[in-house]
Amino acid sequence: MKVRFWGVRGSIPVPGPTTSRYGGNSSCVEVEHDGHVLMLDCGTGARALGRDLFARSLRQVDLLFTHFHMDHVFGFPFFAPVYAPGFQVRVHVPAFSQDEARDRLARYCNAVYHPIRLRELPAEVSFHPVQAGRIFQCGPFKVSGMRLNHPGGSLGYRIEAGGHCVSYITDTAPLAQPGQGAASGESPSANERRLVEGLRGADCVIFDTMFSFDEYLEKMTWGHSYPEYAVALCKLAEVQELVLFHHSPDASDDELDALGATWEAHQEPRVTMAREGRVVDLEG
Ligand SMILES: [Zn+2]
Ligand SMILES: [Zn+2]
Repeated sequence: MKVRFWGVRGSIPVPGPTTSRYGGNSSCVEVEHDGHVLMLDCGTGARALGRDLFARSLRQVDLLFTHFHMDHVFGFPFFAPVYAPGFQVRVHVPAFSQDEARDRLARYCNAVYHPIRLRELPAEVSFHPVQAGRIFQCGPFKVSGMRLNHPGGSLGYRIEAGGHCVSYITDTAPLAQPGQGAASGESPSANERRLVEGLRGADCVIFDTMFSFDEYLEKMTWGHSYPEYAVALCKLAEVQELVLFHHSPDASDDELDALGATWEAHQEPRVTMAREGRVVDLEG
């Protein structure tokens, strides 16, 4: 199983000279195994991924949405496979029914925010509701959804294939108040314990760490975490590698280099940075 980052930024795409090394595109991550591709969110990074799927002669993809804030859906009308007749795009959406799953995306693709309507797409686009705690199969991938802590809700995913496991946890605020729970050295809250079990033993966890701890204290209701929090949960879950993700649009390449350097020597888990174009090979 391989993980490839196509968009690592939170909130808004930020192209420009100070973000060119980590990349300015918003959330989109590919997980590939045995020629099958699963994509996580459809931020602006999805545009380049779509082109790459054609270059690899692929004709099907599973797209998992965590939620529908715009940084996670911007890329959908620019994801070329949806305009290719016969291309199978299976869209998995946090929802209770197929109709609700379709409606959630149709609200964005309604000829107002972009000229195209969902029902006019030439590809074979199908909709599949996902609920927290339910396990489902996407080709070779065994997937389960985990409820996160974000305004309007967000679903995290655990993905297993070929004896390996990756988890995608964005967007989410800590599941305990400051001074309580896993990050403070106290016993984890019930919600933290549930998330830790969802991450248990993963080779790789991609975690929303948009804020520093001080920013989190200022913006506790915004629904984002900070690195020390992600490290504490991943340590409890015995995760091998934590990838810091959903970088702040205000963070320059130099600031992200400095953040990476802070964690460079950390073990259990190893801590690395998400960067556009980076590939994490879980077999290697
Ligand atoms: Zn986001
Ligand atoms: Zn969000």
